[in-house]
Amino acid sequence: MSADALLPLLKSTFGFDAFRGRQGEVVDRVMAGARTLAVMPTGAGKSLTYQLPAVALNGCVVVVSPLIALMHDQLRGARAAGIRAASLTSVDADWADTRQAYRDGQLDLLYVAPERATGEGFRTLLEAQTPALFAIDEAHCVSEWGHDFRPDYRLLRPLLDAFPAVPRLALTATADKHTREDILVQLGIPADGLILAGFDRPNIRYTVRPRVSPAKQLVEFIAANPGPGIVYAPTRNGTERLAEQIAAATGRSVAAYHAGLDPELRARVQHDFVASEDGIVTATVAFGMGIDKPDVRFVAHAGLPKSIESYYQETGRAGRDGDPAEAMMLWGADDFARARMRLSELPEARVAGERVRLNALAALVEAVECRRALLLRHFGENPPERCGNCDNCLEPGRQVDATVLAQKLLSAVYRTGQSFGAGHIEAVLTGRHDERIASRGHDKLSVFGIVEGDEARLIKPLVRSLVAREALGTTEHGGLMLGPAGRAVMKGEVPVLIAEPPVKRTQRASRRGDGETANPVGDPLFDALRAMRRELAVEAGVPPYVIFHDSALRAMASERPATRSALGTIPGVGTRKLEAWGDAFLNVIRQY
Ligand code: ADP
Ligand code: ZN
Repeated sequence: MSADALLPLLKSTFGFDAFRGRQGEVVDRVMAGARTLAVMPTGAGKSLTYQLPAVALNGCVVVVSPLIALMHDQLRGARAAGIRAASLTSVDADWADTRQAYRDGQLDLLYVAPERATGEGFRTLLEAQTPALFAIDEAHCVSEWGHDFRPDYRLLRPLLDAFPAVPRLALTATADKHTREDILVQLGIPADGLILAGFDRPNIRYTVRPRVSPAKQLVEFIAANPGPGIVYAPTRNGTERLAEQIAAATGRSVAAYHAGLDPELRARVQHDFVASEDGIVTATVAFGMGIDKPDVRFVAHAGLPKSIESYYQETGRAGRDGDPAEAMMLWGADDFARARMRLSELPEARVAGERVRLNALAALVEAVECRRALLLRHFGENPPERCGNCDNCLEPGRQVDATVLAQKLLSAVYRTGQSFGAGHIEAVLTGRHDERIASRGHDKLSVFGIVEGDEARLIKPLVRSLVAREALGTTEHGGLMLGPAGRAVMKGEVPVLIAEPPVKRTQRASRRGDGETANPVGDPLFDALRAMRRELAVEAGVPPYVIFHDSALRAMASERPATRSALGTIPGVGTRKLEAWGDAFLNVIRQY
């Protein structure tokens, strides 16, 4: 059976009218019994590519997944769509029931942790009843090249090979070329079984700003973004401080999350966030793995992420439902200074690689061209020049040639003895007369007062830029010194182009085009539908998005279906959900 033949089932089970991206191709291969590796970005809808076959095929689809929280989240979603699903993990108490249901052919989907899947008992279970498909989620875990190698995954191969006729579907969101090739080999998938979907997440808007006053910048950003969001901060203290500041300034519910909190509190913060429609978590990067919340509306970075890869993974947690979402990063020269300082503590063999990572980040934050194009090129794609949905496309910045100014600046750093901070250097260059300068005789230097007028406003951004590109380094006490790339800049061998600092803007111009969908503000029907969703979610013990996504509620509010069958045409409303919750929502619509 081809994927197209499954369209009616796609509609009745999940409420979707069409496959998205390359889902159809993957489902085609699965239904044909082929072996496949699907590499698709977060939010592309990987789980559907085995959940739909789970409904269509005779027999049970066995899903190997390393993250229990993720599994349980999927379980809830699958059950809400009427799929008979269960899991076998260390925290499940109903093992005996689950195994019995499997043997009796009463299951469509069985989630299992890798350490269970590789056990003797599990193979015996499968021998009693051959599965319809093996789905291996987070398949990069099988590769030592991947960023998350798990030895348990290596033990899966004998299990798979014990059932050679059962199709295999490996899935991952993050795998570079090397890792992809390794997954194919490790899991016995032919090279032509690779389906590689684009990395682009067109609904995420990227914005990168110099960090001037982080709390204020974040508060302004959050005020413009009412939905749920994550703010990543580099330190534990930072997350707690920001949580207080943001809560005080916005009145929203904000919780801090980091590895230093006790596990119970961490679990509660995560649970509350998943269930919320407007909650904010300020977190270290410890937060996010295993969270599958589709309606996260923004991800903000209060400081520089570790690499482009982690930036992409972290921002990728926004907008998995396909609705507009924001990714906003604040960065400062000190981020680069600290990161470069840490390089010296690394084993020699890793330094070069880390330096490449940092330089790629420097290019991202410094870019005046399209951020999305830059990101996608980093992942080996060949995107259009402009995306129309990043800060640089929406408000094109100019580049200024700061080569000569950079020479002056470096020379001032050099002549003052490579120990003063940016403020002092700026004072020297602009010829300020003050006590500190006079007492050190810095007003007698040739560099004193050589920067005039308008150019002075470029000094701060230039310092950031020179630190980012390692022409400047920082001393232990925060002073500036020449960095490894400083010499070439000082000699004028490399041009220094920097982004023109933004002229103080009042509010950013219109944030969204008309064609884009955001939740309506002040629409009483939409609000009432949300309230009903909350009520039903509490009753069913699931997060609101498991009932319906915002997009479905928006469609209900604008189309006002009056009958069950009309409601059933709305994307996201499948047969099972229509039966369970349709009347409740129709009732709400009738009242408005
Ligand atoms: P991934 O695992 O690839 O990150 P998910 O499987 O969690 O992505 O799916 C992301 C979101 O996309 C889910 O909310 C899902 O309901 C939605 N989705 C999946 N397939 C489709 C489709 N064909 N049409 C519309 N929405 C879809
Ligand atoms: Zn762009």
